[in-house]
Amino acid sequence: MFDNLSDKLDKAFHILKGHGKITEVNVADTLKEVRRALLDADVNFKIAKDFTARVKEKAIGQDVLTTLQPGQLLVKLVKDELTELMGGDVAGINLSGAPTVILMSGLQGSGKTTFSGKLANYLLTKKNKKPLLVACDIYRPAAIQQLYVVGDSIGVEVYSEPENKNPVEIAQNAIKHAKANGFNVVIVDTAGRLAVDQEMMDEISRVHKAIQPQETLFVVDAMTGQDAVNTAKAFNDILNFDGVILTKLDGDTRGGAALSIKSVVNKPIKFVGTGEKMEAIDVFYPVRMAERILG
Ligand code: GDP
Repeated sequence: MFDNLSDKLDKAFHILKGHGKITEVNVADTLKEVRRALLDADVNFKIAKDFTARVKEKAIGQDVLTTLQPGQLLVKLVKDELTELMGGDVAGINLSGAPTVILMSGLQGSGKTTFSGKLANYLLTKKNKKPLLVACDIYRPAAIQQLYVVGDSIGVEVYSEPENKNPVEIAQNAIKHAKANGFNVVIVDTAGRLAVDQEMMDEISRVHKAIQPQETLFVVDAMTGQDAVNTAKAFNDILNFDGVILTKLDGDTRGGAALSIKSVVNKPIKFVGTGEKMEAIDVFYPVRMAERILG
């Protein structure tokens, strides 16, 4: 994950290591390479430019050239800035409400259904919750079936109404079912399309308004880079969601989505998916990710 970015940043800092005395020019060259590394990672131009401008400002403010180890200080400044770029502090999940209602949104194939299962499993095994999974995809019977397979594999009940073509009703009935049967978390998996379209947006917006979830999560495939960021913006405009789930971080992603999403929608990445198995879920820690990127 992010191997290319790590390599390029490492090379950028090498510029400083090759010099006995570090000059302003060396620092500027290094930051230029840092910017190039971010652009190669599919971070958008403005974000990359602002990033290096901020690092430069801090480097000047802290008088980088007069410190004992200017190279190390610059690495630290970049690390801090990467952490900020990815959201700063770790963002928790809001488990208030009786039951807590969590709405999953995102395009088809982003990993919504898989993540719904992972989250249910996480809440069951790590947070001592009794979750209910809800199948609200009224277009693809296979999607409902898939949620049953996921639910079976982790021992979590799935609620569906295969004959009902009204996702708002299904979600509302599921919450009633949860209340009547002692479930304290309801995870609503919604229909996804291959691209953002008005009908899908209207539908999820109706569900959102009707059930007023404590958490609306937007699931996106990290491999899709700038597209992920654009899709996030479209969903956020409609749902004003609470957090992002970045899936497929185990794949060969360049990192652009992880690095750009917070700046664009101003919402934190809450969890990441790191594989197809139900255990492949991690809370997202910006500082750990920045440390990992900088090796
Ligand atoms: P949905 O259409 O949004 O519900 O997406 P699915 O949950 O069906 O996921 C689409 C595909 O991505 C499936 O083959 C999943 O196994 C796979 N997938 C989901 N999350 C991850 C992940 O974190 N890593 C990897 N490698 N594959 C994932």
